[in-house]
Amino acid sequence: MPPRPGLAAIFSCVIFFCATLCATSAVAQPPAANEMPSVIQVPPEAQPSPHFDAIAATNAYMAQIPADKTARSDAYFEGGYWLILWDFLYAVAVCLLLLNLRWSARMRDLSERVTRFKPVHTFVYFLQYLILTTILVFPLTAYEDYFREHQYGLATQTFGPWLLDQIKEFAVTLVLGGLLAVLLFGVVRRLPRTWWVWGAVVTICFLIFGILITPVYIVPIFNKVTILNNPKVVDPILSMARANGIPAKNVYEIDASKQTTRMSANVSGFANTMRITLNDNLLRRGSPEEIQAVMGHEMGHYVMNHIYKGILFFSVVIVLAFVYLRWGLDWAIQRWGEKWQIHGVGDTAVLPLVILLVSIFGFVFTPINSTYTRVQEYEADMYGLNTSRQPDGFAQGAIHLGEYRKMNPGPVEEWIFFDHPSGRNRIYSAMRWKAENLKLFTPQPPQ
Ligand SMILES: [Zn+2]
Repeated sequence: MPPRPGLAAIFSCVIFFCATLCATSAVAQPPAANEMPSVIQVPPEAQPSPHFDAIAATNAYMAQIPADKTARSDAYFEGGYWLILWDFLYAVAVCLLLLNLRWSARMRDLSERVTRFKPVHTFVYFLQYLILTTILVFPLTAYEDYFREHQYGLATQTFGPWLLDQIKEFAVTLVLGGLLAVLLFGVVRRLPRTWWVWGAVVTICFLIFGILITPVYIVPIFNKVTILNNPKVVDPILSMARANGIPAKNVYEIDASKQTTRMSANVSGFANTMRITLNDNLLRRGSPEEIQAVMGHEMGHYVMNHIYKGILFFSVVIVLAFVYLRWGLDWAIQRWGEKWQIHGVGDTAVLPLVILLVSIFGFVFTPINSTYTRVQEYEADMYGLNTSRQPDGFAQGAIHLGEYRKMNPGPVEEWIFFDHPSGRNRIYSAMRWKAENLKLFTPQPPQ
């Protein structure tokens, strides 16, 4: 994700959360720059036998990946570590620029001239802020989201359609981010002593609202979502759903190949908007076993209430963030408020300072967030194995995902940067499961 100083970071957290509560992604068609092999044939070491060994089976799967593919996917993923740092530093630089050159104060003055009606004033400030920061961050956005993705064969859009998606994203951010800004500044002005408590409450409600509307109103702005009706794919999935007490009547398909070659699936939504969606890359390239393994994983998220638990977790994080903001804003405004011409926490010109402080919080929080998500993903993997009983489909999926995710990181690297278990660990989990369930794969002698 490129830095978005324009998005109140909490809002980007909404998007981030929806985007990551998911399984799978990998690469397919056009500039098939780093396409991983589809390991349809189970390697001999992973075939059921009295000598089956989970580590040997894992190694045999890993050996299916050509060295040049591994090198390329490692380079892509490791480059992402640096991008976390550059995104952070770039966002900090943009915020400091807006504060020190008093551009933020000027935008506030301008919006005051437009209107004295506070909510409109806040929205007009936010509009200017978003335009300015979008322009300033654009070179990094274009590099990260467009040129780099093409360089690694992960993107399918030409520049025009990509830019159109960026414009749509700008509009969504303007509406939702603007709404959140109006609400939060309203809270700060009305409740100058307890704003941080009520600000956290408003933000948590907004997070839930964001998750609720995302699959139904946000996703269709960018992609076409349809009900999947190929019985060959849907029947085993719905059978699995029934066996697990999931009241699903439909599985959804999204035309993600419009933007990317990655294979993926996810659970999104809240209450009655909650749904499981597969993307068309997965449908096209995944074997039936692999699709079932992925769907078992997604059902794990559903049955184990990962979205609700995620809301609870992020609610705690949001409260902590507001405690820190209350302290940090007071401290910074006391020191530099005069220089930056910021009159207090309720002054809209404070926004770049808020984003600056939230960026620092988010940066420090990266490994905790990765680990929280990765633990849920591991749980969903275990659930998926138990319910789909497709360890080889699972291993195949892990290899497909290796197209954009390092397969074999060190333990510390995995702890800090991986929001899903690494490919090698996922294959090992699958082979460990297979070792304990060999009878499912061995023809039984007639009784
Ligand atoms: Zn997942």
